[in-house]
Amino acid sequence: MPEALKVRSRDPQESLAEPVPASILVVDDEPAVREGCRRVLCRKGYRVETAAGGKEGLAKARQDHFDLILIDIKMPDMDGVELLQAVRNLSPDTVCIIITGYATLELAVRTTKLGAYDFVTKPFTPNELLGVVERGLEVRRLTLGARSLAEERDRRLLEIATEKSRLRTIINCLADGVLVINRERQLVLYNPAILTLLSLKEAPRLGQPFEQYLPNPEMATLLAESLSSPDSQYSRVAREFSLDPEGKTVVMANVAAVRDENGQILGAVLVLRDITQLKELDRMKAQFIAMVAHELRAPLAAIKGYLDLILGDTVRDPAQIRHMLERCNQRGEALLALIQDLLEVSRLEAARTFRRIEQLPLADILQSALELVSPQARTRKVSITCELPAELPLLQADREEMIRLFTNLLSNAIKYNREEGKVWVETKVEEPYVRIDISDTGVGIPREALPKLFREFFRLRTPETKYVTGTGLGLSIVKKIVDAHGGRVEVISELGEGSTFTVYLPLPEQAGKST
Ligand code: ADP
Repeated sequence: MPEALKVRSRDPQESLAEPVPASILVVDDEPAVREGCRRVLCRKGYRVETAAGGKEGLAKARQDHFDLILIDIKMPDMDGVELLQAVRNLSPDTVCIIITGYATLELAVRTTKLGAYDFVTKPFTPNELLGVVERGLEVRRLTLGARSLAEERDRRLLEIATEKSRLRTIINCLADGVLVINRERQLVLYNPAILTLLSLKEAPRLGQPFEQYLPNPEMATLLAESLSSPDSQYSRVAREFSLDPEGKTVVMANVAAVRDENGQILGAVLVLRDITQLKELDRMKAQFIAMVAHELRAPLAAIKGYLDLILGDTVRDPAQIRHMLERCNQRGEALLALIQDLLEVSRLEAARTFRRIEQLPLADILQSALELVSPQARTRKVSITCELPAELPLLQADREEMIRLFTNLLSNAIKYNREEGKVWVETKVEEPYVRIDISDTGVGIPREALPKLFREFFRLRTPETKYVTGTGLGLSIVKKIVDAHGGRVEVISELGEGSTFTVYLPLPEQAGKST
């Protein structure tokens, strides 16, 4: 490859493309010098143009880019100093070399102060010309290379800084607590979530031994041990910890060594996830399953007991057998009701994500619920009074769930009432709620039972309620529906006198009125 091809163009991007020959402009009013230079330089592979005077030279420099310009110092129309200054302003990267005679040598030396790279004194040999041109182009190449390296470095530094701040933002936004230590067991990084989880009042100081910030010695040991886990083995240890003696806050600690690309340990990371709620859910689920199993077993065991007696020929009296079969039937019905309620509970859980909320006239809902319980009221000779005001607000709720809610409360008011007792329904707007009272003249509820009333499977076994069938899920369903609609349910009761269940449901924001 000719020497000239090694010169890169002025655009650093083009350095990736095919090398292009350096472009040179020779500006001299002496045709012999101009031509001589052109020939020598063309022979070396450079792209050469010439100009017969300063003005022509400047015009060409404006039109085209040149890597190097040879400028004669003495020209009639525009002298070399003037052209040099114009070119320097126009294209500071262009290397300018002054062609000078002995008489103007001193002037030429001064031009170097104005930015000329070097000068060549007339008369010069081809080698002298090539020597100064090649040196000039080499300096240009190095300067451009250094500049592009500096630019690249600045860009990288900016990228790293951006990346670092992005990572920090992500780590700070994590709900999980993060803590990182180096090989010397010093704290090097943490996020705000870990301060909350570890109840640290003051922000830890980076560079300090990490142990002072980890109150749980076992957790600290786990983290320290990961610093000496076997080479190149990717491992993560996960363990549960209670962060307080009462076990109120439970976390899952994930600990892993941080390694470089060669597998050498640089430090260790601890990630803490608060699993308190998950643990509580687990506990409640297990408790619920145990309760369901218990509730299902009692009626099934009774049914099986009767059937064993009948099938084992222990009981032969047809009247007795009939009585036992009737009991089986009753227990079977109770079992079905229980399963129905269990399905309702699980439907309500699933409905957390989907609920058909619409504007509902409260009067219609109460009317539908009353119709559903009227056969039960007739059987028990219980009278129901429901005097609704002329104007009742609209509800913003799920229709099926609202009917279920009032049916459950009305049904209880009838079930736990005395024969020929009374039930009455009243409504009132108490901003921002509408309040619905369902009162009865029933057996009442002892004060100590009130806090447990809305729990699953809670049933009072008193002489008065012993023969009332139920699943113990009705009120828990009521509570779930009210909670899901942003309301609340309260109860006041007097033993032997009766009870009042009060439901508060939020009024729609743009409360409309229905008659
Ligand atoms: P159940 O299916 O047993 O009726 P609930 O969850 O509806 O289940 O009610 C739980 C318990 O609360 C009932 O077993 C009963 O002892 C008591 N209870 C509910 N409503 C009334 C009421 N209006 N008067 C008296 N006791 C009631």
